[in-house]
Amino acid sequence: MKQLTDHAFWLESSVAANCYWLDADGRTAIIDPGMTFGLNRLARELRAAGRSPYEVTDILLTHYDTDHAQSAAEWQRRTGARVWLGAADAAILTGAVPPPATPFRRFSARVALAELPANLHLLDGDAEVWPGLSALTSPGHTPGHHAFRAGRVLFTGDAALCKDGRLGPVPSFLMSDTQRGLADLARLGALDVDWYCCGHSAPQRRR
Ligand SMILES: [Zn+2]
Repeated sequence: MKQLTDHAFWLESSVAANCYWLDADGRTAIIDPGMTFGLNRLARELRAAGRSPYEVTDILLTHYDTDHAQSAAEWQRRTGARVWLGAADAAILTGAVPPPATPFRRFSARVALAELPANLHLLDGDAEVWPGLSALTSPGHTPGHHAFRAGRVLFTGDAALCKDGRLGPVPSFLMSDTQRGLADLARLGALDVDWYCCGHSAPQRRR
């Protein structure tokens, strides 16, 4: 468990996508808890740091991809936490709406979709999740993708990768809407923050 700021931590043992932990005004959030295979590893990492998985009050999902969201339903069952996910992504998980018609999205839908968690709070555009934590719509990667900003820390999900203290694009074959993704990237890269916490590159200080 690597401390980034007074309130934000990187859980380094997650499997596949990066997982983060956020303490905020009496609430504790896990951001993109990742694959079910990694759930016990995260629990062990938390306990080793003197924390507990049962502290989680909120599960923040940047988007529905399995490598970010697969274990969310199980985390929710064990903790009773609120779960935050874009409405457009939840509609894909329920089957109400088909995934975007890109080869990668069709492939990933055939392999496995994450289970839709209970106690779901849907995000549909920019929103204040709670005072000091905002969701930023960024639908280039998936239709319901949201980044999260907690003060001077930005959790980008798969809207961006971090390199040399700057945000860069996720490979275009992974994007549902490439043009929209570039607009998301420009917007997020312009935010005045200190930390970039990305889904698939180590967190970095902004330069
Ligand atoms: Zn993704």
